[in-house]
Parts: sequence; C-alpha cells; structure tokens
Amino acid sequence: MSGTWELIDVSGELIDAAAGSNNPPVCEARLFTHASSYSKRRFASLVPLCQSLPPMNRHETFEGNTFAGGELDRAGHLRRDDKWYEAQITHADARFLPLWHLKALVNGSGLADLVWLDYTEIATEREQDACLLLLGLDDKRIPHFAIDVSAHAAAAGDAPFADKGEYFDLRPLAPRIRRPDAALLAQARSMIDWHARHGFCSVCGKATLPDDGGYVRRCTDDACKAQHFPRTDPVVIMLVTNGDRALMGRQNRFPSKMFSALAGFVEPGETVEEAVRREVMEEAGIEVGTVRYHSSQPWPYPSSLMIGCLAEAISEKITVDPLELESAYWFSRKDLTEAMEESLKGGLDPFNREMKSVGEHDLLVPHPMAIAHQLIRAWIELD
Ligand SMILES: [Zn+2]
Repeated sequence: MSGTWELIDVSGELIDAAAGSNNPPVCEARLFTHASSYSKRRFASLVPLCQSLPPMNRHETFEGNTFAGGELDRAGHLRRDDKWYEAQITHADARFLPLWHLKALVNGSGLADLVWLDYTEIATEREQDACLLLLGLDDKRIPHFAIDVSAHAAAAGDAPFADKGEYFDLRPLAPRIRRPDAALLAQARSMIDWHARHGFCSVCGKATLPDDGGYVRRCTDDACKAQHFPRTDPVVIMLVTNGDRALMGRQNRFPSKMFSALAGFVEPGETVEEAVRREVMEEAGIEVGTVRYHSSQPWPYPSSLMIGCLAEAISEKITVDPLELESAYWFSRKDLTEAMEESLKGGLDPFNREMKSVGEHDLLVPHPMAIAHQLIRAWIELD
C-alpha cells in the first residue's frame, strides 16, 4: 500500500475484552497515518505489538483455539543430550504415536482416543530409521514420541497397526478428540512433514540427518555442517471492523456461502500490524488503523501459526482483488450473531452443509475450530 505510518502513541494497556469470559486480555497499539520520511524510519523500532502483555502460561491461554493447549513438557533443554534422549526412547513406559502419511491412528466412535504403541511395537520401524521425534514428557515424566510409519506401510503394502484403529487426517479428526490431543497431533504432523521435506541440505545439497530429539537436521557434509531448524510460517488473520459492521471475504475454494476473516502470510522484514494493514489493503482496499492482538493458533498444514487480530477500519469502500477474493462485504453485527448461532448447530462436523445461511449476503461463518470463528465471537462479545 502507499503512504507511510507513524506511531504516535503506544498505550500498551491491557484491555479486558470481555470481563468474566474466557477471552484473554488484548493489547492495543495506536497507529495513525502520517506521511513523512522520519515516520518510516521510526516505525520499525517503535511498534511493540503487545509489548506489555505478561507471559502467558497455559492456564491463561485463550481456551477456544483448536490445536492450542498442549500439555506435554517439550524438554527442549534436555533433548540435546544424546544419552538422555536414548534413555527416553528405551524408557519402560515410553509411548509412541504412529503417523501414516501424516494421518493419526485413533479408535472409538464419537470422541476418539489416540492409539499409542510401546517400544517393542515400533522396534522394526526404528531399525529401518523411521523418523522419530520427542513430543514431550507428561506430568509423570513419561516420554511421548511421534514416529513416521509411512515407509513400513509402503513395504508391507498396507497401513501398519491397522488392527488397533483407523487412520484419519487431522482436520476432520480435530473436533472428535480432546483438545490437548489435537495440540499434540498438530505438533507431530508439522514436525514429521518438515522432516520428510528436508532430507537434503539447502546450502550444499548433501543429505541431512535429524538430531536433538528431532528438532534439528544437520548436514552430513563435513565442510558444510549447516543446521536446519523446523519452520513455522506466521499468518495474520484479522477481523476488520467499522462501528457495528465487520468485513468478511470469501475465496472461490470456500464451501458455498462461507465468508471468513481476511488472512495472509507475514512477509520477511514486516511486523504483525504492518502485515495486517498490507493484506487488508491489498485484498479489499480498506485502510486499517488500530490493530489489536487477540490470540494465536497453530495450523499444521503444513506448519503455520495463525496470529489472530481485531483491526479497526478507517475507510469504508471495498475494492476486491479478484486474484485473492471472490467477494467481500460489510456484515452487520446482527447477521454475524445469527450466523454464529447457526454455526454451532453443525456439531462436530466442520463441513456440515446443512446449516442455514443468514442475512442479505447469504452468510455462513467458519466452524469453531477455526480462529476466524473465535475472532468473530470476541468482537460480538466486546459490546
Ligand atoms: Zn550442507
């Protein structure tokens, strides 16, 4: 977008978005348009999104986001010790979660349980150098691992351990499992997918091998020795509001009548609030002023972090970029409230097509497992 931004006041105040609810505090950074060469230089160093937010522990973390809320201790300070790590693998009570082509093994109808294996059951996979990584330790210090059993399946011509349950992709499975299990599966899926895509060094092209409990891959070339770390791709997702209306857009790949908050990847050298303003301007031609952080959500397809924000519009005329969006409209709070109530009737199925659309624009809103749903809810509950 054109123009420059100058930060003239950062309140950093904690705002109780909805006293008595589960919503976390949000932090406000006030920004105003101002064209000057000086403002451009100052901006990068002066925008502290949520500068004064205290560190959150898991009890304070927003409760609504699917794939958040993992309960294992990742033991990052211990897993670099090879002797300690090997002792965890051979621990008598160690548990191993098999993933087959990134699908998780579960049993039970309705609310499903993850299927865990013991060391003897994955010994063959380990001998065949199956990708293994430490997910973490539970409150009894029992180690939990994920293991990629896709190679075994290819050799055998069938999915292994299928007598213990059924393999499901994480997205339809997430609403059917406990929240900490969904978080753990998101971690496992992202990490195993990263290992599968990074078998070779991006510096010299030689093979890489996993180390540090699966949280680094090292180049095997002695002259290179490059280290490669798991990536997380930040995505801003923002509900843009203007008084009693909120901006929602739809892509042509969305289910029929579904509109959602606008979103886009943060680019290198860009702050979260800069990315929010750029994406909203690019996709819908709307200028944004105040940006408030709400909450974040791991999104393991393959490895994004959705950074949820509420953003205040300072212009109204929508100009859709047809390469990004099929359409975008301002929706009234009344229509959004009714659509949110309707979305909860979809039950566990995030792809339920039986829900009724509402309002003048024939609106359906995302399922509660999407952070967009939580952003809409937060905005509706603000007033
Ligand atoms: Zn290398």
